[in-house]
Amino acid sequence: METPAPTRALSQFVLKLHSRCDLACDHCYVYEHADTSWKARVRATPDEVVERVAARIAEHAAAHRLPGVQVVFHGGEPLLAGPARMRRAAAALRGALDGVCALELGIQTNAVLLDERFCDVFDEFGISVGVSLDGGRAENDRHRRFADGRGSYDRVVASIGLLREPRYRHLFGGLLCTIDVENDPPAVYEALMALEPPRIDFLLPHATHDVPPPRPGGARAPYAQWLLAVHERWTAEGRPVPVRVFDSVRRMLRGGSSLVESIGTDPVDLVVIETDGSFEQADSLKTAYDGAPATGMDVFAHSLDEVAAHPGIEARRQGKEGLCDECRRCPVVDVCGGGLYAHRYRTGSGFANPSAYCGDLMELILGIREAEETERENPVSTASGQQPQHPLTEDQIDQLAAGHGDAATVAALAAEQLEITRGLLTAVWERAPRDGRTAAVWRVLAEVDEAAPQALDAVLAHPYARTWARHCLETGGDGGADVTGLAEFAAAAVVRAAGRYEATVRVPVHDGAVRLPGLGRVLVGAPDGEDAEVTATADGFSVSAAGGTVRIDVHGPGDARWHPVRRVGPAGWSVALEDTDRYRDAHQWPPVPRQDEAEVKAWHEDLVAAWDFLGRELPRYAPGLAAGLGTVTPLVPPGDGSDVSGAARQAFGAVGIARPASPDTLALLVAHEFQHVKLGAVLDLADLYDPQDTRLFHAPWRPDPRPLEGLLQGTYAHVAVAEYWRAQARRDVPGAAAPFARWTRETAEAVDRLAGSGSLTPLGERFADGMARTVAPWLSELNGV
Ligand code: SF4
Ligand code: SF4
Repeated sequence: METPAPTRALSQFVLKLHSRCDLACDHCYVYEHADTSWKARVRATPDEVVERVAARIAEHAAAHRLPGVQVVFHGGEPLLAGPARMRRAAAALRGALDGVCALELGIQTNAVLLDERFCDVFDEFGISVGVSLDGGRAENDRHRRFADGRGSYDRVVASIGLLREPRYRHLFGGLLCTIDVENDPPAVYEALMALEPPRIDFLLPHATHDVPPPRPGGARAPYAQWLLAVHERWTAEGRPVPVRVFDSVRRMLRGGSSLVESIGTDPVDLVVIETDGSFEQADSLKTAYDGAPATGMDVFAHSLDEVAAHPGIEARRQGKEGLCDECRRCPVVDVCGGGLYAHRYRTGSGFANPSAYCGDLMELILGIREAEETERENPVSTASGQQPQHPLTEDQIDQLAAGHGDAATVAALAAEQLEITRGLLTAVWERAPRDGRTAAVWRVLAEVDEAAPQALDAVLAHPYARTWARHCLETGGDGGADVTGLAEFAAAAVVRAAGRYEATVRVPVHDGAVRLPGLGRVLVGAPDGEDAEVTATADGFSVSAAGGTVRIDVHGPGDARWHPVRRVGPAGWSVALEDTDRYRDAHQWPPVPRQDEAEVKAWHEDLVAAWDFLGRELPRYAPGLAAGLGTVTPLVPPGDGSDVSGAARQAFGAVGIARPASPDTLALLVAHEFQHVKLGAVLDLADLYDPQDTRLFHAPWRPDPRPLEGLLQGTYAHVAVAEYWRAQARRDVPGAAAPFARWTRETAEAVDRLAGSGSLTPLGERFADGMARTVAPWLSELNGV
């Protein structure tokens, strides 16, 4: 069964809690740019507006079965709403979404009024706090001033001091800095870093072609130069915190998704709710013309489905198709995406233009790409001469150590896995026979990489690419290496690159079929070892062999000879149900053969329900799973009714599972196995223990002693298992209390054993500490503390 076409849901909401501000920044797009709608707005958002917003979001999330939504309190200055109103707003949202989907709550504030009363509300409702600050005192106070001209720096830094106290530290979400190219970039960066933020965002000041950005001295791309100077310092320091604009470009260069609205072609699914309940498009449009963000809709009269269909919101969900011709032809369009929508505005042509920052965006992307290539070729040549031991940030390590890892963290692991697989592909090629055939295949791979790198990345992100490559390298030298995989991967890349690159690839037939890794297989009726030719077509692809030609129209009616990998699960988190790849037998238990439609339908329904459970009951795991789990490989059930599942170090992004009796158990198996997937990816990057230690250790849950890595893997997996049973116990599921108690105590015992092994590296100790901190409150619950 194919997954239904994705519905156009909205999942990010900016909720204005106050329409005025206690600062008078001269670069403010709310009060100082074209739009003047703020003048007519009610000041503080009435409770009935917030309650209506909460009900609208809940209704929308339930209808679209969203795993989670994000709501950010905004303004003007949201703290002007006061702690009591803020508390009511957070309670209304949490109450409405409880049991519907995960809710990520945040606030973006100038922090002038921040005090303990607000922090206690943030703590109670888990509200992450982003603070706007433009650098040190001199840089910040250039623009961010009170109406009487006083600078705001001292007041804001005092508030950040409160957020840095241990009791509130977990609430500190990061710093948002608007760029002024007159400020010294390293000085701004160091001033921000001195406040130990968990994340930094840099914002281009809003501008259009009508009101272009300031370019002092007529410089061509001063914003790119400014950001690249910061990027150089940040890279030299080992990327100590996530910087979203840099992380987004790096991810997009590797075919990943963007983390910010201002870069990339990902659809924007964000809507703003003003203090009077009006729905508006992104705030940045205030810079274009008076009334630009308006939709004419409000929370009382309109649903979020109606808002999602508004032409202005729809226009920002068109991806590359929605860009002007110049952008569509641009060599960096897949990363840039035309920049922020508002920045494209010009009177007359509207938004059908490249960004007013076009030159800066081009130079920034090329500059980061060049720096990445230099770093890859010469990994010890950074300015400080120091390399981080691993490419994860401190925050990402702490997230993973605690057992979870958000979407960006798991995406970072996936990007590193892709690099490993690329390296293995090259190693296979180097060992393959030096003949014209291998050379032709390698040329196709290199050309696809040039013309459509995302297509090759998508092929190499297939979990069993690495399994195949390792198999080749381990069996190479005796003539048994399955180097035909090179041609299979090249053919799959050509099919994925259709429209951007054309070639015909000769692929040897194997088991009567042509394998297209990650896509499926075509039964060609030719003997093994004979060649088939794979060519992309306008509607799909064709495979020609001695037995004839099979033409696959990927949008048309099915062909019994084409066994596509089917996607199952809910929109927004569908996974490949892999039952075609001959390298999928990697999960300790044998995989099932091709599944019939009834079984695929059952998988689909169970995964929809399992994902619903994960989003609702294990919200700390759901974003990482959504970002990293791409494949489920069905395994043969054991026949005795027991549950079977497995993960493989060589198959990132896949779990093997025999479909269990209930979706809840499926959720448990998915969460459990994905712990192994994450930890395996971490172990590919860094040592957590001394590999020379060959002692065996007893894990509390099994009779046979295990090597230290086995104990570590089991413990990490059982953190998720204990959390699953805790969620079930809290829902009063009969029989859940006992496994919650058992797995919590045994996991805590295993963590102690790891910590006491004397063989953990400092990073390994950090993982043990993180797991201990996660489990400790559950032990207290069990002990009635
Ligand atoms: S703090 Fe923000 S909303 Fe207030 S004036 Fe400054 S930029 Fe505008
Ligand atoms: S760099 Fe310029 S032309 Fe290229 S996609 Fe971005 S805005 Fe468009």
